[in-house]
Amino acid sequence: MKFNTKTIHGGQQHEEATGSVMPPIFQTSTYAQSSPGVNKGYEYSRAANPTRTALEKAFASLENGTHGFAFSSGLAAIDCVLRTLNSGDEVIAGDDIYGGTYRMFTNMFEKYGLKFRYVDMNEVGNVIKAISDKTKLIWLETPTNPLMKIADIEEITKAVKAKNTDILVAVDNTFATPYLQRPLDLGVDIVMHSATKYLGGHSDLVMGALMVKDAQLAEELHFIQFAAGAIAGPMDSFLALRGIKTLHLRMQRHCENGKAVAEYLEEHPKVERVFYPGLKNHPNYEVAKKQMNDFGGMVSFRLKDQSKQAALTFLENTKIFTLAESLGGVESLVSHPVTMTHASIPEAERLKIGITDSLIRLSVGVEDIDDLLADLEQALSK
Ligand SMILES: *Cc1c(COP(=O)(O)O)cnc(C)c1O
Repeated sequence: MKFNTKTIHGGQQHEEATGSVMPPIFQTSTYAQSSPGVNKGYEYSRAANPTRTALEKAFASLENGTHGFAFSSGLAAIDCVLRTLNSGDEVIAGDDIYGGTYRMFTNMFEKYGLKFRYVDMNEVGNVIKAISDKTKLIWLETPTNPLMKIADIEEITKAVKAKNTDILVAVDNTFATPYLQRPLDLGVDIVMHSATKYLGGHSDLVMGALMVKDAQLAEELHFIQFAAGAIAGPMDSFLALRGIKTLHLRMQRHCENGKAVAEYLEEHPKVERVFYPGLKNHPNYEVAKKQMNDFGGMVSFRLKDQSKQAALTFLENTKIFTLAESLGGVESLVSHPVTMTHASIPEAERLKIGITDSLIRLSVGVEDIDDLLADLEQALSK
């Protein structure tokens, strides 16, 4: 099956009893047994629920994996991966990963004896240099938030595996989605998503996903999902499945609109710099072109006027772009990393990685592009 068919049919079958084309919402915690231990494959919904099973099969199919897992949030999915590690193990992560991931690593898992090293993933050499005999996991995110940095997934994975095949490589594929890049095909072990974003696609749920292609790793992750219990509920599983069916259609428009917005901003006299991997002046444009099918709908930019007030004026005046956290829904959103997503990072730290007061992040939705550009134009003229 090609990707655009997989989003609709991947891992799916009509429900047996009625032929229902969509899986019903099995809103149940438990299942009748005919004799102790004799059941129809379902015992208790923390272990498995048919609506979640349908979604988990779709997750696996989208990323060309063999197993998928649905969690109550993206962070719950990351938490599950980290629980495969033991005290004393080391993790190498990108230096500008999602703030919540960084918070979990440093504020939760360090106290259980895990060690984290943060490196600039732009250079494969940085990753290799940080590897020790205790390294067990590489945590990659590409493109990154909000500066849209790109890491070469295939090169990094090859180099890491050449050094030690036991080190797992995981990619947070939230920004790109499997429509744009499929890390399991590039050799990584685990793909993670905040399905809250593009997979769900309608800003109506919070959910996480893991996809793998190794049976033993799948068994380990399933045990943790079952034993720790951070599962996705049946109603949310249904909504995510419905969202996935239009992923390819939405992404096509997100990419078209994202590119048009990036090109418009690049020419605008009030804009200092645009961060979008599809622009030829992006430092990793060639890597992005190699590993992504297109460049997505996330665009960041810096105003020439470096004052916080200039950014606030813009943020208060957009009408179609809603000022809100999150991304990846059909509606366009705008956010201010300094005061919103990255507020917990000390000023010196965030300035070092380029997150200034005048930086603005857009999640470009699937509305008519003329309306989106007109909205940016009127807000920039204030
Ligand atoms: C939102 C997000 C997360 C966290 O996911 P939640 O669903 O909010 O728990 C992780 N990584 C990235 C890149 C995200 O955008």
